[in-house]
Amino acid sequence: MTLIANHPPTAELQALDAAHHMHPFTHNDELAEKGARVITRARGVTLTDSDGNEYLDAMAGLWCVNIGYGRDEIAEVAARQMRELPYYNTFFQTSHVPGIALAAKLAELAPGDLNHVFFAGSGSEANDTNIRLVRTYWAQKGQPEKNIIISRKNAYHGSSMGSASLGGMTPMHEQGGLPIPDVHHIDQPHWWDEGGEMSREEFGLERARQLEKAIQELGPDRVAAFIGEPVQGAGGVVIPPDSYWPEIQRICDEYGILLIADEVICGFGRTGKWFGSQTYGIRPHIMTLAKGLSSGYAPIGASVVCEEVAAVIDACEFNHGYTYSGHPVTAAVALENLRILEEENIVDRVAEHAAPYLGEKWAGLADHPLVGEARTIGMMGTIALTPDASARAKFAGNAGDVGLICRENCFQNGLVMRHVGDRMIISPPLVITDAEIDTLVERAWTALDLTHAKLKADGLMKSA
Ligand SMILES: *Cc1c(COP(=O)(O)O)cnc(C)c1O
Repeated sequence: MTLIANHPPTAELQALDAAHHMHPFTHNDELAEKGARVITRARGVTLTDSDGNEYLDAMAGLWCVNIGYGRDEIAEVAARQMRELPYYNTFFQTSHVPGIALAAKLAELAPGDLNHVFFAGSGSEANDTNIRLVRTYWAQKGQPEKNIIISRKNAYHGSSMGSASLGGMTPMHEQGGLPIPDVHHIDQPHWWDEGGEMSREEFGLERARQLEKAIQELGPDRVAAFIGEPVQGAGGVVIPPDSYWPEIQRICDEYGILLIADEVICGFGRTGKWFGSQTYGIRPHIMTLAKGLSSGYAPIGASVVCEEVAAVIDACEFNHGYTYSGHPVTAAVALENLRILEEENIVDRVAEHAAPYLGEKWAGLADHPLVGEARTIGMMGTIALTPDASARAKFAGNAGDVGLICRENCFQNGLVMRHVGDRMIISPPLVITDAEIDTLVERAWTALDLTHAKLKADGLMKSA
């Protein structure tokens, strides 16, 4: 307890961290050399580290703290639920009040006839559930060979064996024997990097039609489902051309394959509607939820399933589940988070005010000499760093070197902004104020200036 409440000096914490704590997606030896930043508290959109430095968290943690940090109501609900019923499972023909209430609430919020909820502990687990759901669905319908899931390169669907196989991250596939069989990847709708001479809309159609080609090549009787994030998050906030999703929807309808929308980032207001599917007119059979479902206050994930798929699954025993499926404390936390989102009209405020305001300010970054394009959708933003915007050029050095320099300059200037390759991305808490958006963009500009100056000094403003 004393270690947490009244912590030792930063250097001591860093030494313990380096000695015992293996960080995700981290070269731990390199981290041990410099020492981890230790975050000790957070309020609203602001983080404080163990040395008392403050940062504006433009990433909402990992895309999840939609309602902002430090909401006492959530802490109180969690404490009350822990006293009342800290744990019980939903196996063995039992249920509990928070699990029932959250399932019913999600059925109410989710579009169309997405009325059935299978709970998990994370987005990765929910996507593993989805693999088993769609394959079991077709097997139950007498088509067990209809088991291939089509996904996209550079998609992110989680880090477990199944979900990372759905994902299209090459560095992940290189470790541990991924992907699992019968997952097929098509190209992503990333116009800036891959669009060549095509217009955005032409390119969106071309990329969507890769799905049709893949179905024809693999055989419609082999393809179970397509999975996609409405907007790819971890891939670099890849905002698809407007032509993309309608064409994907047409193809899924025409060939009778299930459509899974991975809403782990896009859900709960991120794109200005409750779900990214609503922003893009997607009619999924299954939605994956996590992150903003609890605003990160407790780990939870869920698969929300349409009537047709649920009817088939419910007619057999589905041999799947997690100890913490529908955990009562996390379910109570998620319900309270949803209450706050609804009662404080946070999603409407995003659509009507915060997103347009952020969009306008963020677009101004396109005037910086280091920036190629600056885009937002709802409360997600992305800028491409480039030595030559008109050519959409990449830097001559290793991809990601410039992004990393920029990220470090952000930290030095009190801003948490993530880099994906040489792209900088944001996804701030939805409750960020106008003044905080101004500060975010000012600090981003300063970090870009510092990065630009360093690149010029080191002779790195060169195209590949
Ligand atoms: C983060 C993420 C996941 C994985 O969620 P975890 O809770 O980290 O397992 C899945 N899909 C998308 C789109 C994500 O961004």
